[in-house]
Amino acid sequence: MFHTGGGRPERMSDTPPPRSEFLTEIPQQSPPPQLVTPIPRIVRASTVTDELPIVSPTERHVVRLAAIESQIRWMGEATLPRSATGMSPWRTVFGEQGPFAIIKRKAGRFRLPRAFKNELLDRFCSTDNAGQSTLTTLIVVAHPDDESIGAGARLRHLGDAYVIDVTDGAPRDDSCVLRHGYQKREEYAEARRRELHDAMVIAGLPEDRLISLDFVDGEATLRLAELCLKVTELIDSIRPDVVLTHPYEGGHTDHDATAFAVHLACGVLRREGASPPAVFELTSYHARDGQKVVQEFLPHARADRGQRKVTLSEEDRGIKQRIFECFGTQRTVLEKFGTEFEKFRPAPRYVFTQPPHAGTLNYELYGDPDRGKTWREYAERALRILRMRRG
Ligand SMILES: [Zn+2]
Repeated sequence: MFHTGGGRPERMSDTPPPRSEFLTEIPQQSPPPQLVTPIPRIVRASTVTDELPIVSPTERHVVRLAAIESQIRWMGEATLPRSATGMSPWRTVFGEQGPFAIIKRKAGRFRLPRAFKNELLDRFCSTDNAGQSTLTTLIVVAHPDDESIGAGARLRHLGDAYVIDVTDGAPRDDSCVLRHGYQKREEYAEARRRELHDAMVIAGLPEDRLISLDFVDGEATLRLAELCLKVTELIDSIRPDVVLTHPYEGGHTDHDATAFAVHLACGVLRREGASPPAVFELTSYHARDGQKVVQEFLPHARADRGQRKVTLSEEDRGIKQRIFECFGTQRTVLEKFGTEFEKFRPAPRYVFTQPPHAGTLNYELYGDPDRGKTWREYAERALRILRMRRG
């Protein structure tokens, strides 16, 4: 069954999170991560056929599941004794042959023709529902209110859409849970799940189109390779034309982790011979000159040439407002975001081992000036595990 997840309160500058909330080691007693719930396979030929598939989706599915399992077992790579780290984990599963979904050779990313991406983006931004009916869209965001902030009004115009939330919206830190009036993390996550469900009813999204990967809020970075493989799995099963996700902008570590996972998932698919979707971005927030900027993209010359600003109709504004009102626990966060417009742009190619911009990142404003450096170390490690190039 599909299941929804809860969201995270976006960190605003007046509510600094405790340092321990981000990028801490996962406690030993954590339950093992759950594999993605299998979803019905949708037969949908991509409109992009620049490479012929070299394996069947079923074969890719099998090797990826093995890779996820192996990744989970080897997540503690850095703490393993030297003799263990010198051994290839794949050999224990596949003999001398590493699973081609992960190993074989390093690969770069995808790149779709610009004209094709522009045409898709025009259709994506259209308010003519007939123009949308042939597009399948996968919205992959970090926290349950992120899809509403970035595309709450767009959702009702998308003919065939899925929303995937990476985290359940509840951090491991008790003080945050208590601050919202809940005793346990699970109770807070459940509240966020209900809020998202209510919001998506207003957005017109069927319940079975909501998927939560149930990562702990603030910890997506700790499991980047696993997250990437899960997103790969979802893209390969649903075969969307468009994936909409966060920009890499240093706003929140989970946002950057989600962007990383989507971009690298497309690279994995490309390496396997499958046609990747077009990747578009929605707006969230980031820091500029030490100040938080919301609802705008971090400037990027190439990507901004394709940026679209969709002015919301009166009706769409009303619906987006009602969606926002569903997120009662996030009221102080959402009131910083307006309902006049939504912006989208084609995702540029990122080098995730470099900072998204000069100066202090948004998530470095809250007590840990090295948080960006730590994030990039996790990205570097995940790239090694995935055998993907840096850019
Ligand atoms: Zn978020």
